[in-house]
Amino acid sequence: MILDLQPLNLPSDNRRPFVIAGPCSAETEEQVMTTAHELAHKGCHIFRAGVWKPRTKPGGFEGQGEKALPWLQRVKEETGMLIATEVATPRHVEAALQAGIDILWIGARTTANPFAIQELADSLKGTDIPVFVKNPVNPDLELWIGALLRLNGAGVKRIGAIHRGFSSVDQKLYRNVPLWHLPIELHRRITNLPIACDPSHIGGRRDLIAPLCQQAMDMGFEGLIIESHCNPDEAWSDAKQQVTPDVLDFILEHLVVRDNVEMTESLVSLRKQIDEMDSQLMDLLTKRMRVSREIALYKKDHNMSVVQRERYSEILAKRAAQGSLCGMDPAFIRRVYEEIHAESVRQQMEIINK
Ligand code: PEP
Ligand code: MN
Repeated sequence: MILDLQPLNLPSDNRRPFVIAGPCSAETEEQVMTTAHELAHKGCHIFRAGVWKPRTKPGGFEGQGEKALPWLQRVKEETGMLIATEVATPRHVEAALQAGIDILWIGARTTANPFAIQELADSLKGTDIPVFVKNPVNPDLELWIGALLRLNGAGVKRIGAIHRGFSSVDQKLYRNVPLWHLPIELHRRITNLPIACDPSHIGGRRDLIAPLCQQAMDMGFEGLIIESHCNPDEAWSDAKQQVTPDVLDFILEHLVVRDNVEMTESLVSLRKQIDEMDSQLMDLLTKRMRVSREIALYKKDHNMSVVQRERYSEILAKRAAQGSLCGMDPAFIRRVYEEIHAESVRQQMEIINK
């Protein structure tokens, strides 16, 4: 499928990646200006800041709202950077356009709601502003594509997608699991759509930003959107995942950007599939351990011993036979399950001895 798109034409010295950087939220005029000047000094061309913040629970910092728009205008005047912010309602769009915001993005929670997307699309009719659409919070590619189609259907032609990872119920390495095959499939389905990666919201942790940026480059993403704050520890939202402009510059300087990387079945892409499957294995193991800890509570309540020998022998025998049917060496599967069982017993002991 090809959407009726025009180039985003974002400033990036004509090199990949284009980078959008700035704080999660515009907190104060001083924080916005300090961060923006530091970023501009490091050569950034596009500044982001959330003015309206969708928060999971009431009571959190919900953004400064329209009062922060003049701060972004000041950024543009003083640094020459383009300015970008998130919009979730037609009223946000109107205020952002009036304030001369250059680039809009639609947040993950909004993309998940087709009514909200249609209202936004209608409010953007007749404008020429570039709009980025973040993936919905749930791993639903059709919903993501639906949002892109609604915008394009309303005549928005400068559209990009942002991959920001997906919610999942289990405790895990990432704040939002990347599920790289989804943006790769999006690229396969809409070949002329530029896709940027948001390592900040995928990782949720500073130390994951650099490796995630590199993965995104290896997979041929066109751009990056990264949260950067002049004083990340004191940030009013997403403090753990923001980096200083200095650190951001260091990360970007060390990125290896290869030419002509295609999101195809290349070796890199196959390796990414392996990485992806390993993280699914890790998620499954985590879930298995959680269930095993619940079993420990049951055993404790019923005064049962931790290791039930028949059950253990049964697992080893059944899994080895299953493995063999799947073309694997049954001895290998036995070893894997002996180790999994040992860790499971260790975790159950912790609970029983509490
Ligand atoms: C953000 O970019 O600060 C944000 C709220 O992102 P997301 O919609 O991806 O959660
Ligand atoms: Mn954020």
